Amino acid sequence: PKHTARRTVVVAPAPAPVPAPPIANMTSQRAPSPVARVPSPKNVPRSYPQQDVQPSNGNFAFAEMIRNYRAQIDYRPLSMFDGVNENRISVCVRKRPLNKKELTKAEVDVITIPSRDITILHQPQTRVDLTKYLDNQKFRFDYSFDEYANNELVYRFTAAPLVKTVFDNGTATCFAYGQTGSGKTHTMGGDFSGKKQNASMGIYALTARDVFRMLEQPQYRRKDLSVHCAFFEIYGTKTYDLLNDKAELRVLEDKMQKVQVVGLKEEQAHNEQDVLELINKGTLVRTAGTTSANANSSRSHAIFQIILRQGKKVWGKFSLIDLAGNERGQDTRECDRDTRKEGANINTSLLALKECIRGMARNSSHVPFRQSKLTMVLRDSFIGEKSRTVMISMISPGISSSDHTLNTLRYADRVKEMGTDGSGEA
Ligand code: ADP
Ligand code: MG
Repeated sequence: PKHTARRTVVVAPAPAPVPAPPIANMTSQRAPSPVARVPSPKNVPRSYPQQDVQPSNGNFAFAEMIRNYRAQIDYRPLSMFDGVNENRISVCVRKRPLNKKELTKAEVDVITIPSRDITILHQPQTRVDLTKYLDNQKFRFDYSFDEYANNELVYRFTAAPLVKTVFDNGTATCFAYGQTGSGKTHTMGGDFSGKKQNASMGIYALTARDVFRMLEQPQYRRKDLSVHCAFFEIYGTKTYDLLNDKAELRVLEDKMQKVQVVGLKEEQAHNEQDVLELINKGTLVRTAGTTSANANSSRSHAIFQIILRQGKKVWGKFSLIDLAGNERGQDTRECDRDTRKEGANINTSLLALKECIRGMARNSSHVPFRQSKLTMVLRDSFIGEKSRTVMISMISPGISSSDHTLNTLRYADRVKEMGTDGSGEA
């Protein structure tokens, strides 16, 4: 059974005369601790982990309302033991934990993920008479990953089910969407410690690992397939090869509507280690000359491809995309003209992406892929019965990100609305 994404806006009642539950550490001088850890992988209802917020916190009233809300729900998070859906288009949400900076500022966590498919944003609101209330916006997606989910779990339910698509001559695509700092690169490329990335735990590498495992199976070993990687970046209207010192590439469409990235370098990989080296090489080129991992990368789309070939012929393709920060398209107050133009470009490509996935869901022969460079180079991802797509929408948990988070959830919701009917199954 499939659900249509439904957004129900539940406006919380006016601050009820509920006695506040006792607050741990109320008199303690310690900085607020992160949300309590939850052990036990079993899918039994248990109480939702609560955040400690001090009464001196400017958002204490909101935090208390969230606490009361969480006290009343059954917590059944996704676990490794849950079954995997076989959707042609799948849309998921991943919430990252509060980071050090947010913990230092004692940011209130406004995202509740009670179960495997529900995400709730508690949007803080103030009435004209200055009373505070929560606008609890509930979203349903294929999967909701909370802050305890690691990359392995996220991978299992997102990109992993698509590996066989590539071996079946199909096109698989996995997008990481969201605001800068929400966890796109952490999810796709692996965790960063400073400027160094642990690529082996990112979805790029986990996908490569499974591709090589699959290749070992007798039915595919006979096919004599080889694995190749490409890694490139779209920055504004330009395309750069990350495996070839940022050489500029041209994107052309031939008479058969086949899109070609002219000159794109493809490196053959013989094992997972080879792929890791290519990821590291490309990531270094991508972030070279910048002071932080996010300085430039938040304004470009990075596309990592694992291409299976039989001889010279493409057998199947997996594209993994770390999208530009979606807030870049929204900030129209940006005073610098180039930055504004850049933002408009990102906005266009993300809107085109949404339309292309919708077109794919309808099995339309008129997918509007020409609307942006991004959708142009990914044309094959949106066309054909053998295409499968997963979008992971990353969200930051903090109260100060709630407007961006709402935008991200709404975008994902609109992709999903159409995506649910896409498989052609009953
Ligand atoms: P983006 O690529 O969306 O801009 P990053 O992946 O760079 O965001 O993440 C921003 C910061 O948050 C990084 O320091 C990263 O290590 C951390 N982070 C992101 N997601 C998680 C997570 N699920 N668990 C722990 N830390 C995370
Ligand atoms: Mg990033």
